Amino acid sequence: MARNQQFTIGWISPLPLEKEAARLVLDEEYPQEDVQHENTFYLGGRIGQHKVVIGVQRKIGLNGAAVLAEKMRVGFPNIKYLVLVGIAGGVPRYGPTGASSEIVLGDVVVSSPRGNHGGVLQYDKGAWQGEGRLNFRGHTNGVPGDLLAALNNFRAEGWSKTNIPGRLKQMRLKLDEKRQHQFDDPGPTRDRLFEDEYNHRGTELDDCKDCCDADQTISRSERGDGATRLLDEPLVHFGNIASSNQLQISARERNRVQLEHDAICFEMEAAGVMEEYPCVVIRGICDYADSHKNKGWQNYAAATAAACAKGLLSMLPAIEVTDSSKTASLPSEQPATHASNITFGSGNSGQQAGVINGGVHGAVFGRR
Ligand SMILES: [Zn+2]
Repeated sequence: MARNQQFTIGWISPLPLEKEAARLVLDEEYPQEDVQHENTFYLGGRIGQHKVVIGVQRKIGLNGAAVLAEKMRVGFPNIKYLVLVGIAGGVPRYGPTGASSEIVLGDVVVSSPRGNHGGVLQYDKGAWQGEGRLNFRGHTNGVPGDLLAALNNFRAEGWSKTNIPGRLKQMRLKLDEKRQHQFDDPGPTRDRLFEDEYNHRGTELDDCKDCCDADQTISRSERGDGATRLLDEPLVHFGNIASSNQLQISARERNRVQLEHDAICFEMEAAGVMEEYPCVVIRGICDYADSHKNKGWQNYAAATAAACAKGLLSMLPAIEVTDSSKTASLPSEQPATHASNITFGSGNSGQQAGVINGGVHGAVFGRR
């Protein structure tokens, strides 16, 4: 499995649809049989200067994410950073009154330090006190050094350089004509934000358009200029992501966590990864973290998140893979030890020197 040594970025896709979006942003995709560990195939490829290995969770939730992160770290010992890329619920509005920001469906949230948190918090972790109140203890690690620098550069470049519209276009061109519309922007008329107090009327399988009162929605235009987007021009927001094992389906609870923790996005994986691994979380917003779930925005949100992740990786300098044949003498099949914890050169013989010698730029993958 010497080839596994060349990957420096691990990409976690919680769901298969998110893996498909990830596949579409690869500049080069490697043959499946070349990227495997412990009888599992991973998706491997190149994004710019980075060799990226992409895994899908077997189970949803914090634990499923943590298990996958650990498997990838062991199977691909030169992974320096993980990116967790997928869909999530977003808060409709955040920030101080008068200077607030609107999140609309299709926008992207990137985990970044804000207020008391480093970018991700587990909001259901803590000790229960009297009157059903949770004494919060769910802090996680922040975004690590080089990745935070890349993130800050990405943020500073502003809209013009994130190039999400261009990347979405490239992604669709990789699909045959029939499937190209799969990742289209559903547009403002299908962006249904309901009043906080108006709960979903049907079963969880029912689409809101069949069971919920359209008069209870607030359109993008009613939300003001901050909620206006041109087609395929989502905004990227930077802030805290609230993570828990429970699906967040209450507008009231969403608003409470937002106020208490300055969180702008809700999902079920990040806290399982951030605690142990250097990671950044990138989420396309497919609903408003309330009772009105719908699948209509999932594909597009997965695509905008993947496009954004690609933009962020382009801001991260190539990660050198050390020629460990000079510094270590462990047999090539020996996996990295747990204690090595995502560092370079976790032991391999000279057998694969041709693969990783010379670092990322000089790397040769398999038969290519
Ligand atoms: Zn509904």
